[in-house]
Amino acid sequence: MKNLINLKDKDNKDFNKLGLKKNILQVLSRLNYKKPLDVQDIIVPLALKGKNVVFTSKTGSGKTLAYMLGYLGKINKKQSLQMIVLVPTRELCVQVGKEVKTVCDPLDINVGMLYGGRNVAGDYRTLMKKNQILVGTPGRLLLHVNEKKIRVGEVKYLVYDESDQMFDHGFYRSCAYLKQRVSKDAQIILSSATITEKVKDFINQEIVDYELLEIGYLIPKNILQEKIYCDKLEKNSILLNLFSKTKFKRAMIFCNTKLKSYNISEFFQTNGFNAKSLSSDLNQDERLKHLNLFKEGKIKLLVTTDVAARGIHIEDVDLVINYDVPTKNEFYIHRVGRTGRVDKNGYSLTLICPEDVKRFYRIEYLYDLEIVEIDKGDFED
Ligand code: AMP
Repeated sequence: MKNLINLKDKDNKDFNKLGLKKNILQVLSRLNYKKPLDVQDIIVPLALKGKNVVFTSKTGSGKTLAYMLGYLGKINKKQSLQMIVLVPTRELCVQVGKEVKTVCDPLDINVGMLYGGRNVAGDYRTLMKKNQILVGTPGRLLLHVNEKKIRVGEVKYLVYDESDQMFDHGFYRSCAYLKQRVSKDAQIILSSATITEKVKDFINQEIVDYELLEIGYLIPKNILQEKIYCDKLEKNSILLNLFSKTKFKRAMIFCNTKLKSYNISEFFQTNGFNAKSLSSDLNQDERLKHLNLFKEGKIKLLVTTDVAARGIHIEDVDLVINYDVPTKNEFYIHRVGRTGRVDKNGYSLTLICPEDVKRFYRIEYLYDLEIVEIDKGDFED
């Protein structure tokens, strides 16, 4: 059975009303979480009741804590593996793993992280511990399942985090296979920025009975979205004006081809901005180097395609620029979601040239977006 629930902000949210155990409430209070965010307010009671939950929500909405609070009280610290959280990338694995640990450590629940790209010997050290929870990327996790280094038969709680990205990375079959291997009555929580065709297929095939929730807004209200109708050749000068007039630490510029990402970054570099492109032509080390410089604030502009940006976790960006209208609708949500984390304002600007007008209109219509049109001269002196 599916339920589509659209929510508006509620004012009276309270962790004490969610049905959480006392020791968990104490942990929340120690970690200084004052009240539940929307996702938590909705998902925790459903998970506590034993329901499977599929929900759309963006990173930064508090979903990690939502699924943790849903399952944490059911984990028995005397037993071994009971919960698996699958994430699309190693970066996300480390980030989510850290957050999971902050709530598990005070309760003496062990959490292990397994992700591709790391020496397998490191995994063996992780697996020597009796982990009640594993956070991992699907490929690496299954490698150990197949080698019988991890026994998943007793896993009762399975989380598919950012599953649209996971399936885009080619992990659909691994995700489905893991579902077959865990306990038959395992409870599932699946999150996705948008319900893509692959996500639809997966939930239809693999999750028998679930609640489908659309939580809050796909793009939070704290992100100001603007658009400018312009010609191709005007784009660089519009952005030059914007960047010269605006105070910001980090801006991401999304375009649709590798060559463009290179050319745009060269343009801004020659115009005095510290800019780098992130292209799939770069090797892993170079990509990481650019990424870290950007995160440290040493590069102000990162110019990238959706393909190169996929699988890297950069948020806390002041400005997101859609230099080109994205080729896939959902890319708009992923791009803009990199600005405006919890409690922070974000800004996105989309540049629309005549041939993209229709395509962008479809994106606006599909997601019911509120985008303010501004004039191309607005950033000029
Ligand atoms: P996530 O969407 O899981 O990546 O969470 C985004 C951020 O929100 C994390 O840094 C959390 O620590 C933070 N967060 C999660 N729940 C709450 C809450 N109830 N109140 C304030 N911050 C929270």
